[in-house]
Amino acid sequence: MDLFVFRPVFFDFYRWLRVSFLHSKRSIALMHDQGITMNRTDLWKLLLLVLPLSLTLSVNALAHDTPEGGETPDVKAEEVSEKASDDEAESEAGEEEEEEKPKTIAELTEEMDRIDGLFTLFRDPKTGATKMLLQGDQLNSEFIYFKHTMNGVTDAGAFTGSYGDQYIFTIERRFDKLQFVRQNTAYYFDPDNAISRASQANISRAVLAVTAIAAENEETGEVLIDSDALFLSEAFANVTYYGGDDPGDRFTLGGLDPEKSQILDLRNYPENTAVEVEYVFNNPKPKRGGSDAVTDARNVSITVRHTWIEVPENDYQPRFADARLGSFNVQVTDLTSTDSAPYRDLLERWHLVKKDPSAEISDPVEPITWWIENTTPIEWRDLIMGAALEWNKAFEHAGFSNAMVVKVQPDDADWDAGDIRYNVLRWTSSPRPPFGGYGPSFSNPRTGQLLGADIMLEYSFLNRSKLTRELIQGEAVEPMMLGGHDARLCSVGHAIAEGGLMADIALQMDGGDADIEEQLKRDRLYYLILHELGHTLGMNHNMKATQLLSPAQLADPEVLESGVISGSVMDYPAVNYAPDRDDQTLFYTIAPGPYDDWYIEYAYSPGLSNADREVERLEAIAARSTEHALSFGNDADDMRSPGRGMDPRVNIYDNSSDSIAYASTQMKLMHDTLNKTAKWTPDEGDSYEDVVDGVALLVRLWGTNAGVISRWIGGVYVDRAVVGQEGATEPFRPVERERQKAAMAALSDQLFSPEAFEIDGALWRQAAPERRGFEHGGSTEDPKIHRAVLSSQKRVFDHLLNSTVLKRITDTELYGNEYPLVEVFEDLTDAVFAADARGSVNSFRRNLQVEYVDRLAMMASEEGASKYHSTAQALAVLTLSELREQLANKRRGDRVSQAHAKLLVMNIDRAMDNE
Ligand SMILES: [Zn+2]
Repeated sequence: MDLFVFRPVFFDFYRWLRVSFLHSKRSIALMHDQGITMNRTDLWKLLLLVLPLSLTLSVNALAHDTPEGGETPDVKAEEVSEKASDDEAESEAGEEEEEEKPKTIAELTEEMDRIDGLFTLFRDPKTGATKMLLQGDQLNSEFIYFKHTMNGVTDAGAFTGSYGDQYIFTIERRFDKLQFVRQNTAYYFDPDNAISRASQANISRAVLAVTAIAAENEETGEVLIDSDALFLSEAFANVTYYGGDDPGDRFTLGGLDPEKSQILDLRNYPENTAVEVEYVFNNPKPKRGGSDAVTDARNVSITVRHTWIEVPENDYQPRFADARLGSFNVQVTDLTSTDSAPYRDLLERWHLVKKDPSAEISDPVEPITWWIENTTPIEWRDLIMGAALEWNKAFEHAGFSNAMVVKVQPDDADWDAGDIRYNVLRWTSSPRPPFGGYGPSFSNPRTGQLLGADIMLEYSFLNRSKLTRELIQGEAVEPMMLGGHDARLCSVGHAIAEGGLMADIALQMDGGDADIEEQLKRDRLYYLILHELGHTLGMNHNMKATQLLSPAQLADPEVLESGVISGSVMDYPAVNYAPDRDDQTLFYTIAPGPYDDWYIEYAYSPGLSNADREVERLEAIAARSTEHALSFGNDADDMRSPGRGMDPRVNIYDNSSDSIAYASTQMKLMHDTLNKTAKWTPDEGDSYEDVVDGVALLVRLWGTNAGVISRWIGGVYVDRAVVGQEGATEPFRPVERERQKAAMAALSDQLFSPEAFEIDGALWRQAAPERRGFEHGGSTEDPKIHRAVLSSQKRVFDHLLNSTVLKRITDTELYGNEYPLVEVFEDLTDAVFAADARGSVNSFRRNLQVEYVDRLAMMASEEGASKYHSTAQALAVLTLSELREQLANKRRGDRVSQAHAKLLVMNIDRAMDNE
């Protein structure tokens, strides 16, 4: 057993030296393998230094070994490694007296339980130690590795059901050892091109682990290895990314402790081998204790299931991806191509084959089968099944009937949801839900064939918003972001939870309606299930899909029949709540939309055997991308954060083809609902938590809608169409002047104006969180009203005064933008100052004006010069000097407004003096 490969980084130095002493020749060779160089003199010096201690440890260690050579019941990686080495050391010591015959596979495994499957496993019933048997033909063959977190804590970025690394690996022989090697699948070389002979050049493979062969059968080619250290290490994948140093500013796990870690379960099937391991991380002096879900921050367990899968052998045809549709892809670059975009990206899809290939529509030979986990609340199961089966309508566009089959996991099922042979719709109720829904899948990295998927759903999705803290701290609490490396994490659950709760509150404040409440629940669940299932079919987000209908069409009762108010179920839409109940139609789309039908046709319609004709066939489908109903733009383009993206139609939390008008209506709705809430009190005997929770949500969504409006200013429409495609426009077109002006006017009116946030003061007297122990999130428990309002205004400044946005406005003036930067500055300054230039300035406006002046001062400063282009800086300077002149002469308004004007003048002078 190689000691170094599986040891944690901070391995026990003295133990290492003890083995080195007993085993010096071998150790030098090993050190060489590890790139550790040390000459013999150095080694002897070290050995002399620790010799007495080494001897003591050796004696102790031997004394603790059981006569069987086994360990204490808790299997420990280091002991296993060490034991193997001890055996070898002892046998080497005996070599001089008598050549000992190596043990056979049968001898080494005779006391162990055998578990047959893809890779045969053995487990010692007394010690729990494991061994793995590989068949001769498994060496040098490719397998798929896949990691899946069974349980964790969100503090550590690891949570139930999260998918991790997946890749191709091989097992290769290296003299008396086996090495596990991850293969690089990112490149393609045309075998007919001579340069393909250099296909390995400058591409690094990854040697994951090297382990000694314990026994082998030369006749059958079988090879046996000790596998404990392999499983208990992070050789195949990091358990989480939260380990390492403890900087104190975030929760940290510390180092992996193989002594405390254990192999929980071995599951073996003909096509896959799965090993479940509880990894224990040890941080002796944690600076952060983590949430209540962390029982003891010094010892945190994360359970991972590793699965090794046979590469499927079938007639699956890989299909090339097209950027006009949003698919999860296996990205492959063709290094033998002379194309400027030499991509051979394969989209991920299930292997669906028609039972009757001649029929226009046929059932598949093997449908995509989903199981509703037996943890699912019984009253939701029918809705979930109904939603899932809606996808079958989309599959008819690809020629399939009953492509999707849904079953319920029996309460006494002998398989669990982590079993990759089953695709499971799972429900959990986590202490700190990392999402409202998550639909991961895994595929063959060579072909894109989807092999398994799950959907994780959070019970809290239908509960309260839990935004109280945001209001009493007066600052936006961003949703917890996990695993930035995973493009598949999905936040639609947050979007639907917030929108659904808002609709629920608005409905209650409007007198309530049992039928509409029931419909709201259905629409929310349907959308969530359809969306997450879409991911598992290989689809990524389509943040442009809510462009489908106009605000008037959204209120048309006909959509209740079609079930469709969006081009796709893959967006993060604003809830379609109609302020006038007679206009209420669907809250969310409850069936796949036209984009979804088109996507499924492209991805799943049976291919033609003739390659050229197949390319033409797919091109003809993709060429429809210019149709309005098939609009597409994904996370890479969307404008969720200030300064990010540029096409305001590709956005989250928006709705309709006129998202400015729609968001304005929503802001007015929030405003009205807050005033209605001021007149409402919870039931007798209850605390006021419901009030503050609802108010926090409404204030947040008021700001969210303002953000949606702001993205139109300085926006550019992006068209993904290829040259010559029917209906295509040029790739970049600046947003029309009228739209940009409309956005500025809406912000001026509903976010910045003195009347923008006129709320009945009675509301704030009730906005009190329920007491619990000493917790107020480090603050006092009263609502921080001004900070909360300013926080929304600041978020909009973050976008409108973002350096990238301002530079883009100047750039786009060269190619058609008719709303120049100089006018944007004039309009924004007017929105912030004009309305009360001659009179009293209210407290919200005073905060707003101070903030605006601060931002301009920063732009004009040296710090600003490194970020902003000169035009923006010049306009900031000009605006500040004009404002100074107006403010210095301010004689009207109440006393506090005059004081405010003096403060602003002082701030401007300070900024200008520093120049
Ligand atoms: Zn999603």
